[in-house]
Amino acid sequence: MLKNFNCGELTKKQVDKKVVLCGWIDSLRTHGKIGFINLRDRSGIVQLFFDKRFSNELKNLTRESVIQVTGKVEARPKNLINNDMKTGDIEIKANKLEILTKADPLPLELGKDIKSLEETRLKYRYLDLRRPEMQKNIEIRHKTIKFMRDFLDEKGFYEITTPILTKSTPEGARDYLVPSRIHKGKFYALPQSPQQYKQLLMVAGFEKYFQIAPCFRDEDARADRCPGEFYQLDLEMSFIEQEDILKLTEDLFIEMIKKIFPEKKLTKVPFPRLKYKDCMKKYKTDKPDLRKNKKNKDELAFCWILDFPLFEEKLENGHYAPKHHMFTMAKEEHLKYLNKKDANKILSYQHDLVLNGFEIGGGSVRIHDPEIQARIFDLIGFDNKQKKYFSHMLTAFRYGVPPHGGIAPGIDRTLMVILGEPNVREVIAFPKSQDAMDLTMDAPSEVSKEQLKEVGIALKKS
Ligand code: ASP
Repeated sequence: MLKNFNCGELTKKQVDKKVVLCGWIDSLRTHGKIGFINLRDRSGIVQLFFDKRFSNELKNLTRESVIQVTGKVEARPKNLINNDMKTGDIEIKANKLEILTKADPLPLELGKDIKSLEETRLKYRYLDLRRPEMQKNIEIRHKTIKFMRDFLDEKGFYEITTPILTKSTPEGARDYLVPSRIHKGKFYALPQSPQQYKQLLMVAGFEKYFQIAPCFRDEDARADRCPGEFYQLDLEMSFIEQEDILKLTEDLFIEMIKKIFPEKKLTKVPFPRLKYKDCMKKYKTDKPDLRKNKKNKDELAFCWILDFPLFEEKLENGHYAPKHHMFTMAKEEHLKYLNKKDANKILSYQHDLVLNGFEIGGGSVRIHDPEIQARIFDLIGFDNKQKKYFSHMLTAFRYGVPPHGGIAPGIDRTLMVILGEPNVREVIAFPKSQDAMDLTMDAPSEVSKEQLKEVGIALKKS
């Protein structure tokens, strides 16, 4: 290692110790021939003191340059202790300074108040991410995902990855398509969710599955939605009833808040459960904000919305669109309405998890009877070609399928709401811009004629 200590972890315990530190120059001050540098690494900041031996070298230094410093830890005299700094009661008396890389003047300000334009922040995201607030959010994201993994592992879940190059799984958005080189004229679709795979994993007998799953949806940006891609905690279980999914999810969130966000307060445990119809009547929305004090940043009001209709309003062409998705099971007592005339009376086993007025996850108990699934396809208005597109599901269900169901809380949105961030981009390392661009990499971008030819695509002149 090029360092033997982390800047932010130094304390009075290390006084008189020789340390080697590496990091970025957060700030630099010279007074005549002597100088001070606040050195920053991931763990925090520590002050370095340079005597007059270094006066020439200091002149060449710029902010955000990367240096290695060898020195001795010293206690600061009482009158020089800086209580605003975690390491404010010590400083490092430097003996050796090595400039590892020099930094040009930065194109954006790294201060606490974000003055830079969103576009600049995203173009130079690797610099924007140096800000302590972003470092903290990314650390919390890591801890949250780790918590989810550990929690579910403990409960006997397997984490199983599913393909990214696959076939369309409709979740109500447009697909991203990837042309195939080997099968010219054919396309993979990036998954809008691993919905079909996780159901097939239940047919395969894994019983409890989860995945920190990337989902790709070509839809417009909103404050709580990045265009392009987002991450879900996708999970599915066999031999369960809706109650089991609600209980598991609720336990996971309660424990997660306790462990990772101890300063936050849950307004109500167990989470209140509202029927869709009542909720719409009372709050005029299916994502009500049940906080007592909506200005309180530390208040978290979860609730469940249940008893959704299976279908949205009947479409003009006489067909129905699924409210959740077409694999959602109708309540047993409503199966008798599974016909063209009565289908809008059917309630389903859909469940939405809502937090402070945001839908942070949805799921359902699934259909596991191929005949019911086939009838749903009819009601949705699938023609034979569309039915064939999903025939693998019906085929799989002919070989012994366990009753199953699941849920998929969105990771980015959940973190945005818990952290009280105004936009989901604040919790994503490299988010797409409002108009679906990766400004850091400058994507999407043109590709060469050869690449297009290989996949059998000719661009129309516009
Ligand atoms: N696939 C669903 C979604 O992305 C979640 C689920 O039904 O488990 O909303």
